[in-house]
Formats: sequence, C-alpha cells, structure tokens
Amino acid sequence: MKIKTVVQKFQGSEAFFRCPICNQPFSLRETGSFLCANGHCFDLSGKGYVNFLSGCGTGAYYGKDLFESRRAVFEEGFYVPAAQTVRTLLQKHMPDGPRVVLDAGCGEGYYARMLSAEGWDVYAMDNAREAVLSACREPAAVRYMVADLANIPAAGGSAGAVLSILSPANYGEFARVLAPGGVLIKAVPGEDYLRELRRCVAAHLSRADYSNKKIIGHMAENADIADHQSLRYTLPVSGRQLEAFYRMTPLTSGVPIEQADLSQVREITIHMEIFAAFLPGGRKDHPRKR
Ligand SMILES: [Zn+2]
Repeated sequence: MKIKTVVQKFQGSEAFFRCPICNQPFSLRETGSFLCANGHCFDLSGKGYVNFLSGCGTGAYYGKDLFESRRAVFEEGFYVPAAQTVRTLLQKHMPDGPRVVLDAGCGEGYYARMLSAEGWDVYAMDNAREAVLSACREPAAVRYMVADLANIPAAGGSAGAVLSILSPANYGEFARVLAPGGVLIKAVPGEDYLRELRRCVAAHLSRADYSNKKIIGHMAENADIADHQSLRYTLPVSGRQLEAFYRMTPLTSGVPIEQADLSQVREITIHMEIFAAFLPGGRKDHPRKR
C-alpha cells in the first residue's frame, strides 16, 4: 500500500487519537506520521496501521502462525453468530451520535472489519504487531494500531463503544476512552468453549475445566452489566480447521499440538457469554439514563 493511501485512511482521525507519551493531540503529517505538540512522532506503516509501541515486543506464542490460524477459522464462518450478537448488542446499547467503535484487542480484525463494512467508524488495536499485520492484509477502512491496553492512545470520551472480544480488559482505560453513555461489549469464553480440544489435552493441563467466573466477577466489580447473551453451538470440523482452532486458543497453551491426539474429534463447540456493560462515568453522564 502506498503511504499516501494509508495517510488518506487516517485522515479525520486526529480527534480520536492522543499521544501515549504526553497525552497531547496529534497532527497527521502528509509524509505519514502522527506528530504531537511535544515532538513525539509515530509513523504510519505502508501496510496500513500506526505503531504506538516501539520495540513491538510480543512473545513467540502470539506469533504470525497464531494469527494466520485465527484468520482461517474466521474466514470459514465459525464465528458468524458471535459477530451477529455483537452487532445486535451494539445497535441496542450504543448511544446516539457518531458511531465510533474501538476494538481493544482486535486480533486479525474479524469484528472490526465487519462493523467497518457496515458503516461504523472503527478503530482497532492489538499489542501484537503480527495480529495487526494479519488484519491489514484484508482491505478495510479500519484504522488499525499497535498499542498498549494500559495506555490506549485515544482521547478521553472518543469512542461510543469499546469491544473486548475474548481478550483482556483494562476497565480504567475503557472508562476513560468511552464517551458519556458509551457501552462496553465484552465477550468471554463460556465453560464449553472449544471443549472438544480441551478434552484432548486434559491429561496435560493442571485443570481441565475452564471457568470464566473470575473474569465475569471482575467485570461486575468494574462495570454495570446491562445485557447478556449466551451463545452456544456445535459445528462439524475438518482436521485442518481443528488444527487452526488448536493453534488459536490460549486454553490449550503450553501443550504442543504434537502431544494432543485430535484424531477422534469431528466437531467443535463455540460457547461465548457476550455482555453489554456501562462503566462509571459513562453511564451517569448519559442524559437518557438519568
Ligand atoms: Zn507527545
């Protein structure tokens, strides 16, 4: 991609971003970088994103292989019902005003691309550069960035919604970035999520059962849960798809695929709990919710 094309994609995004070092606003230079008043400079990549993390330190586990596997299973439609549920919750709970969505942990960009194609103004971040690179391979108007969840390079109140789909949360940052009345859409794995795979490696795991109680409890402490959809379905799966699932889930992490006997597995269960929640500050300032 020509840098000019990338600059065009980011035009109009200056109000969304802020410098992660000094919190000042940016100007977007035609040469392809964001520059703040204090001279901090972040270059756009010709691949179509901006990197706010120098060093891009990601572990080997979150490598290219992982995100290419994820892309494969997303492309084959396994997460279509999840995407539909995310969209429904957004439409129901997002406040009136600009439809700005931040996908905070976008991976290879499946949900971000879907919303962008439907006309939402989507920003998407991941701290793994390989994830963002993988996402950028599909053409989309999404403004991608490599950034830190603990220091989101977005101005306060700049997003009407934050997505956190099967990825970690930082509630302090989410509350800051959300506009008054803005909604958090958070998906966590259900207890049966990819259960067929976990069964294959049960002997290698310290605990075979997965529990999401801690994650949901943490959310309830930090946010006001307004809505909840439970999504559970089982689909037939090929050997190649199964391998892709295996490589993409942290639930089997630490057990090399060679040690897992996947030969008997013919289907896979997707189980997700998807929440709409309001954060302190967001909800109380919303005129419609008073
Ligand atoms: Zn700065």
